[in-house]
Amino acid sequence: MEFFGQTEKALFISRPNRFTITCSLNGTIVSAFLPNPGRLWELLLPGAPVYVERVKDPSRDLRFTAVAVEREGERVVLHTLRTNDVARYLVETNSIPGLEGYEVIQNEVPRGHSRFDFLLKKGNRRLLLEVKSCTLFSKRVAMFPDAVTSRGTRHLRELAHMSTSRSISAVLFLIHSPRPDFFLPDFHTDLEFARAMLDARERVVFLPVAVRWRRDLSLRSSEAKLLRIPWQILEKELQDRGCYLLILRLPADTELRIGSLGHVRLRSGFYAYIGSARKNLFRRIERHRRLRKKFFWHIDFLRAVSEFLVALPVRSEDDLECDLAGALGSMADWSQPGFGSSDCHCPSHLFGFENDPLNIGSFHTLLQYFRIERFIDKYQLIRKPAPSPK
Ligand SMILES: [Zn+2]
Repeated sequence: MEFFGQTEKALFISRPNRFTITCSLNGTIVSAFLPNPGRLWELLLPGAPVYVERVKDPSRDLRFTAVAVEREGERVVLHTLRTNDVARYLVETNSIPGLEGYEVIQNEVPRGHSRFDFLLKKGNRRLLLEVKSCTLFSKRVAMFPDAVTSRGTRHLRELAHMSTSRSISAVLFLIHSPRPDFFLPDFHTDLEFARAMLDARERVVFLPVAVRWRRDLSLRSSEAKLLRIPWQILEKELQDRGCYLLILRLPADTELRIGSLGHVRLRSGFYAYIGSARKNLFRRIERHRRLRKKFFWHIDFLRAVSEFLVALPVRSEDDLECDLAGALGSMADWSQPGFGSSDCHCPSHLFGFENDPLNIGSFHTLLQYFRIERFIDKYQLIRKPAPSPK
């Protein structure tokens, strides 16, 4: 089945705002509409092949629409405005385990304060279906969301509230990669969404379905695969504790006097700092974001003179801070001796980069390992065919 017109291959350059990318198309720099509000950090890396469709409407400002991006040779569809077309096709071809025999009787279904994607019917049973497009995945695990979604959390709570035996609520996560075997809410990025999902577990049917986009951006319904949700990971690890990475940019070479370290010279560039909080991780990160505070940690001195780019929580019941520092140290361009590591044996917890680490593919691989991949080994989950839901 085809969902897109003819596309052309371009190379990603930058994303000047949420809904626009620039890319190089046959050597010419063009702008394209990006119909996807997600962060897409690990997909939109400089030089990544993106597939753009020419816009036929001459009144539109942007002459192209970004449809998909290539990651490790596979097409990942970014066009969220076509997500529901794909979902409808999978329902109508009975390709979603658990939804066989249902037919779509309504779309854009108003309920309470929200609108849900589809109302399905099978005999006298009704099923309210919400669809989410999922492009965040590591080697074995797909995750959602890739940015905080309070709307998504509200949807889950409402769906749980409305679900009855005659009228079921379900969420379809449409995963744009055939590779993962497991699905989890991304509790590192959005703790509230993950909590809402765990709370709704008995009342809402969750259907993480992975699809494979072919090279011509067509899809076969027979290749759709239902992933497993390892709930035990959420039951154990879903806590506001763990460690975090702060990514800062220091605009110029700077000399600072930093508490016990004394006089310190810092090169201009990007910095990644690793810290941890045994509780209230969210509050700790917010403290780093603020400029006005009493200086307490080494990082407070650097924070005062640099630009705060992003904080990346890595939630876990395990103590990962020093392992993460060691792994990051091996890929950094330089490290700052003794910085942030007074309480441990690490040479440093502060690492410098010439370029923004968020634009480096191996940085995201490392982050995803600590955030999610390691849990597959820790909980000894093995790949096996997903069981069909009852
Ligand atoms: Zn350490």
